[in-house]
Amino acid sequence: MGHRVSGSDRAASKYLEELQLLGVTVHVGHAATQIEGADFLARSTAVPDDNPEVAAALTGGIAVHTRAEILTAITQVKPGILVAGTHGKTTTSSMLAVLLDHAGLNPSFVIGSDVGYFGTGARWTSSRHCVVEADESDGTFLVLPAAHAVVTSLDPDHLEFYGSVQRLEEAFVGFVEAVPGTTAVCIDDPDTGVLLGRSGVVTYGTNEQADLQISQIAIEAAATTFDVAWQGKMLGRVRVGLPGHHNALNAAAAITIARELGLDFDDIVEGLAAFTGVARRFEPRGEHGGVHFVDDYAHLPAEVEAAVGTAMQGPWRRVIAAYQPHRFSRTEALGATFATSFRGVDELVLTDIYPAGEAPRAGVSGRIVFDAVTDACPELRVTWKPTLVEVGNYLADTLGPGDLCLTLGAGDLTTVPDQVLTAMRSESSASATWLRTIESELRESSVRYNEPIGPRTTYRVGGAALAFVEIGSHRDLVRFVDAAINAATPLLPVGKGSNMLVADRGFRGVAFTLAGEFDAVTIAGTSVTLGAAVALPAAARRLARNQLAGFEWAVGVPGTVGGAVAMNAGGHGSNMAATVVAATIMDLTTGEVEQRTGLDLGFGYRSSTVVATDLVLDVTMDLVLGDEQEAEAALSEIVRWRRDHQPGGQNAGSVFRNPVDDSAGRLIEAAGCKGLRVGSATVSDKHANFFQADPKGRADDVYGLMQLVIKIVQSKLGIVLQPETRLVGFE
Ligand SMILES: Cc1cc2nc3c(=O)[nH]c(=O)nc-3n(C[C@H](O)[C@H](O)[C@H](O)COP(=O)(O)OP(=O)(O)OC[C@H]3O[C@@H](n4cnc5c(N)ncnc54)[C@H](O)[C@@H]3O)c2cc1C
Repeated sequence: MGHRVSGSDRAASKYLEELQLLGVTVHVGHAATQIEGADFLARSTAVPDDNPEVAAALTGGIAVHTRAEILTAITQVKPGILVAGTHGKTTTSSMLAVLLDHAGLNPSFVIGSDVGYFGTGARWTSSRHCVVEADESDGTFLVLPAAHAVVTSLDPDHLEFYGSVQRLEEAFVGFVEAVPGTTAVCIDDPDTGVLLGRSGVVTYGTNEQADLQISQIAIEAAATTFDVAWQGKMLGRVRVGLPGHHNALNAAAAITIARELGLDFDDIVEGLAAFTGVARRFEPRGEHGGVHFVDDYAHLPAEVEAAVGTAMQGPWRRVIAAYQPHRFSRTEALGATFATSFRGVDELVLTDIYPAGEAPRAGVSGRIVFDAVTDACPELRVTWKPTLVEVGNYLADTLGPGDLCLTLGAGDLTTVPDQVLTAMRSESSASATWLRTIESELRESSVRYNEPIGPRTTYRVGGAALAFVEIGSHRDLVRFVDAAINAATPLLPVGKGSNMLVADRGFRGVAFTLAGEFDAVTIAGTSVTLGAAVALPAAARRLARNQLAGFEWAVGVPGTVGGAVAMNAGGHGSNMAATVVAATIMDLTTGEVEQRTGLDLGFGYRSSTVVATDLVLDVTMDLVLGDEQEAEAALSEIVRWRRDHQPGGQNAGSVFRNPVDDSAGRLIEAAGCKGLRVGSATVSDKHANFFQADPKGRADDVYGLMQLVIKIVQSKLGIVLQPETRLVGFE
């Protein structure tokens, strides 16, 4: 339309990249400066008034519009074909846009999901037709100028906005009455009765009274075919590439409007055949080892029943469904009405609520759905897994050849099929199989498969590894490393996880930690040998008690000796380099062990020659004789200083290295990032180089916050911060 557009989102995404390719200036993160010179600012309803850009616009006299107002302005230019209703809006509007495009009408469209046929969810053309998915959740659909419309269904949803079913019905009546052209209404829906007989309304459905009647519906694994008749006259049979009775109805709605616009039936048949589906609408997500994955956006009882009904008609040995309730308000109002929605599946995995920006409500959790389902369907096997990592691990363990895994919900459960597929693929690629074969030989060690390792870090967020092994002896270590080398499986040494961030999607290799024989302290005069598993604070205290000075600084560093050598940990004016004379190192790619002198270790500021494929087994240090009381006083002072200057909670100490002659904390604070938040992660108010993760937070948010802070500091101060935290499992 000729406007210059810029915008921001809190995290990077493929959508931002696509917008950037289209010439839009995009920013990751929000800042007042980003709206300078703008004529107006548009925001979604999820963005609050205290967002820095909104706040700057409000105080600076720049008009702030909602998405609905922008959509209204667009449809003012070109009144839309508005597709409204509780279910099936996206699929119906996608089918309609494809039908019109296939017939050469080149429509504009604004649809809430990517349409496979177009590869996008929105397009602006010179055509007079514009297909719009009209949102009733916040009343948006009432303000959009319409040419024609569709109402697919009228379930009691979004009552937090409407207040009552009657008000919701009144809104839909108002909507239909304002449409100058035709409104196609689904006559099969039990709640659309209030709309029938009104001016411009034509009906579709399986009901014999329908103007456009569909019949002889045949559902296959990935398609549906049915007959179409108009006011008693048979038009012919169509096939659409989505399975399910509800998709036959969605197609019927699109056909009704396409006919109104003058498309002939042959064009309609061809157009529907060209339709290739919509993201997250019974969307095939992949197959591995005979297990098929399908993801569906269904988040209301009727949608869940439709998706389950469709799945039940496929050729599956078992249908295993996983469901994530959506929003606290909806779960509070409707959670119990899911009682029988999953009936027919062989097993149901339930997880906790996806908040979609809402604040938690007391007493409201996914357990409401769990209790309703287990009460109403005692025969149904229902498993409760509160987090997505647990859901993914459980599914990876449970699914077998011939199974359909059906993920249902409007939230981030959609990431689970990829997570499970990746786990299954990597697992069968030799990795965990070799571990199972040697497991019985590891006598002083323990093995856990698909083990969450994020919770083992001090951030306490992040995903799982294929396996986590605790190695208790040199003998076990040699056997373990030898087998891993043969299987070419990536290995990750983990100490206390106090300098590590593990991605939510996890680490596709085997993580391990040293214990037992590696947790030994040997003192011979002033020469001290510490095993790699020894905890730094414990070592600092023990050496002080033994009248050895020079290691007091380590009392406040909550890591292991191995991790400390790898990064030359330090503080309070000292570091590992100050006392280390040698370290024993195993090469994880060959199994060879060598002694590296202090010089060979090449210590620098938070760095050494220890690379990711090196494993520190122990370290020898030269300390000096000291006074026990003085040492104890130094320890207490360090602990007190840390308590005063550093936050507690879920963090991994300093996120970024200090640039030469400066401090990362000072720079982050100077760039105005103190308190900055991305999702579940914040820059600490107490120390700006510490990032705090929320309980049950996401590692990807911490990562997003790191990226954002790097960008802000670079743009404001011209310095590119370098992470000190080790990032595991990120691209
Ligand atoms: C509150 C807090 C305060 C902190 N203060 C400081 C500080 O003052 N100074 C400082 O330097 N750090 C500090 N840290 C960071 C951290 O404690 C140190 O970096 C510590 O040395 C990491 O040890 P770890 O065992 O936890 O390593 P992990 O986090 O488990 O691992 C870190 C890296 O070391 C590797 N690694 C682990 N074990 C071995 C091994 N045996 N051989 C080879 N590689 C290995 C891992 O693969 C990973 O790449 C702080 C962290 C927190 C949470």
